[in-house]
Amino acid sequence: MAKEKYLVTSALPYANGDLHIGHIAGAYLPADIFVRFQKLLGNDVIYICGTDEHGAPISIKAEQENVPPRKIVDKYHKRIKSAFDGLDIQFENFSGTDRKVHYKLSQNFFSDLNKNGFIQTHTNEQLYCENCNRFLPDRYVEGECPFCHSEGARGDQCDSCGKLIDAIQLTNPLCITCRSTPIIRETTNWFLNLPKFSDKLQKWIESKTEWKDNVKKFILNWLKSGLKERAITRDLNWGIPVPTENTDGKVLYVWFEAPIGYISSTIEWSEKIGKPEKWRDYWFDKNTKLIHFIGKDNIPFHTIIWPAMLMGQDKKYILPDDVPANEYLNLEKNKISTSKNYAVWINEYLEEFSEIPLRYYLAANAPENKDTDFVWKEFQEKYNTDLANTFGNFVNRVLKFSDKHFEHTIPLPQKISNKNEEILTNISDIREKIKQLYQTFKVRKACKMIIDLARFGNQYFDNTIPWKTIKTDRKSTAEMMFICGEIIRNLAIVIYPIIPSSSKKLWKMLGFDKSILKYGWNGLSAKSDKPIIIQNIETLFEKIPDDLIERQVNKLKNLNNIPQKTSGKKIISFETFQKLDLRIAKIIAAEKVKKADKLLKLQISIGSITKQIIAGIAKNYSPKELIGKNILILNNLEPAIIKGEKSEAMLLAVVDGENLSLLIPEKEIPEGSKVL
Ligand SMILES: [Zn+2]
Ligand SMILES: [Zn+2]
Repeated sequence: MAKEKYLVTSALPYANGDLHIGHIAGAYLPADIFVRFQKLLGNDVIYICGTDEHGAPISIKAEQENVPPRKIVDKYHKRIKSAFDGLDIQFENFSGTDRKVHYKLSQNFFSDLNKNGFIQTHTNEQLYCENCNRFLPDRYVEGECPFCHSEGARGDQCDSCGKLIDAIQLTNPLCITCRSTPIIRETTNWFLNLPKFSDKLQKWIESKTEWKDNVKKFILNWLKSGLKERAITRDLNWGIPVPTENTDGKVLYVWFEAPIGYISSTIEWSEKIGKPEKWRDYWFDKNTKLIHFIGKDNIPFHTIIWPAMLMGQDKKYILPDDVPANEYLNLEKNKISTSKNYAVWINEYLEEFSEIPLRYYLAANAPENKDTDFVWKEFQEKYNTDLANTFGNFVNRVLKFSDKHFEHTIPLPQKISNKNEEILTNISDIREKIKQLYQTFKVRKACKMIIDLARFGNQYFDNTIPWKTIKTDRKSTAEMMFICGEIIRNLAIVIYPIIPSSSKKLWKMLGFDKSILKYGWNGLSAKSDKPIIIQNIETLFEKIPDDLIERQVNKLKNLNNIPQKTSGKKIISFETFQKLDLRIAKIIAAEKVKKADKLLKLQISIGSITKQIIAGIAKNYSPKELIGKNILILNNLEPAIIKGEKSEAMLLAVVDGENLSLLIPEKEIPEGSKVL
């Protein structure tokens, strides 16, 4: 059979921060599993990636840390690569977009599109900081979201409602560097004329009958609502210069050049292996299947903009064959947030665990069709139950038993009963199904079938009671061991894409002379024709203890309790300030709260109404001395229940360590007066 050819990529991780479990579940582990599966089949496959090293977030971070952007990029490129290594995610090449080969290719892409009439210039209004003397693209500006009105929305997107924003739409925008209010100034940028590709894109997408529903639906909706021209340059100095005239201070927009990194990284790989033309075999050969693994936020770029860019080139690049985008992974029921540090960071994870439980859990719980949740307790349970208690236990019992009773081998039987032949047929059916699942990116189901097979093995071992039959019927016991051995041989290979290191360890115990990849999936189709010589039997999966998991859970809980971090220089608008209803209130009654030695229960009067407040001031004030005092309160705070008591407003005080003082107006002033 002719080899199939695959070029697999994962979204380029951004070189301004570390990787967390959400990234891995979305774009990297699924790709690594697919690639390893294709290698097992003996297909020609390369896995290409690299860091995305341009754009505003990196130059902003560099300015904040007062270092050149290159330094930020180098630091995170290294950290990201070591996280991938630790998780046994293996690329043919892991490049970066701040390299010469990528500059040249990206500029060529622009020039071809320009020459072929797909690029236009437009002058439009942009925010400009007069203090910093520069335009404020994307994240260089913050303000109030025009859609949901939350503070701190960035110039490209609002984190609260997720909507994409044009910086100029922000209410009360501020330069993030100097906090001054920007002005509006005209600038010229270069735009990709996407509408010119509409028909071609539509036809192409419609031919993709096999694509995931969520991906197809998204694109067809986008096409239906009409494509718009899209800016592909930015007024920034960190990035790839625009290769045409009058483009001082402008670079290619990071979204434009990043996907070109898939090609430049393949070129780099070709050069590294000493076959500088090899990349053409992949990018220009119609038989190559180009598969982009991404998270769902990347769908528009990989299914509309990127294919359009490829269509607009002089050279005939292949187009994506499939874009199996994944949904999101949440963490303990909350959205993962890098800015709030609410995540499981891979480098930290690897200090405490091996890659095996994470690879397994994220595969078994992959967000393939819907968002899924990472729960530490489930992570432990799933691994302990499926791998340690089921898979590992089965392997261990069989190998130990056969080792002891059959001279360190799993024997070949003299004949196989009909019932056992049926079992062997079943195993090969299951293997075929698992193969189909891997091929169609359904790893969750593949995991389940694999563990079901191991579970079946355990039951078979229990039901055939070899520890009894060995005393009376050695022949039939040998036959049972052979069946168990066949199950183990199959398990070792079908689990390889998910947890390759465990699979290799098991392979070693089975003593095959060919490596697992050479033996491959096809090696499974025939029955074993010689006894398996059992090597050193090791525990395949060590159980994860409770205390290790509790530590992780507590780490997150502690994070949760930290009030939202503010940068210290966060400025709120006058409008926001006006939303605070600060008033003077009179304390009319006060008493201690039972079983809470810090809390007092106060009745306060604010003009015509009275409210109850629970305040943590019992160590500083006695109930008696409080009665009759005029204090400052926040009147329109959301009510809360504290120690079973309702609290309907908040008392304001100044605190310095143990010291606490209420804020009391300097002059007589009627209760209910508003603070202005
Ligand atoms: Zn918003
Ligand atoms: Zn500024």
